[in-house]
Amino acid sequence: MSSAGLRLVAVDGPAAAGKGTLARRLAAALNLPYLDTGLLYRATGRRVLDAGGEPADPDTAVAAARALLPADLDRPDLRGPDADRAASAVAAIPAVRAALLDWQRDFGRRHGAVMDGRDIGTVIFPDAPAKLFVTASPEARARRRWAELAARGVVRNLAEVQAEMAARDAQDASRSAAPMKPAGDAVLLDTTALDIEAAFATALAIVQARLGR
Ligand code: C5P
Repeated sequence: MSSAGLRLVAVDGPAAAGKGTLARRLAAALNLPYLDTGLLYRATGRRVLDAGGEPADPDTAVAAARALLPADLDRPDLRGPDADRAASAVAAIPAVRAALLDWQRDFGRRHGAVMDGRDIGTVIFPDAPAKLFVTASPEARARRRWAELAARGVVRNLAEVQAEMAARDAQDASRSAAPMKPAGDAVLLDTTALDIEAAFATALAIVQARLGR
């Protein structure tokens, strides 16, 4: 079904590039609902881990994806290295992605939306009028994630954080099902040298131009 005419904003990109913060602020500025689609994969991975299962096992992961409840997205334990790895593993399974597809499309079609993830502009809403692909250098992204963790009292080694992030990006970009890549009509936004205010102002201008208002 075409999504033409809907105010849909796709914000894709790798981990810790700033897409979550940008997408949340864009949604507030444009008065649109916001969905962090990474939570769906995180909550699926978490369900598998809870049951003592293996996130890369398709049958276990699909059953977990189908059993997801809205409250799963509010769990406090969806972040951290184990949750990161489990999310990326379940997200590489085509049947898991298929199980979560309609949910995401229904969300966006209700009132339009700003959605952040890896495949919003390529697979979920290829017709979205506004698409951003947000990137930053691996060093900048690792430093941001390290600082985020430190602010929550989690002290990690910066090099380890960068290595884990590189492994997850490689898995997300190389999988055959909906690999992370910019849509052909996405605007690339490199936030390496931008603070949040500058990144937001740039993103908002791009999106407003694309939405035609
Ligand atoms: O965005 P976030 O880091 O929370 O996503 C967690 C994982 O979920 C990613 O590493 C990726 O494997 C997967 N994901 C995805 N498609 C999306 C959103 C997230 O494959 N649209």
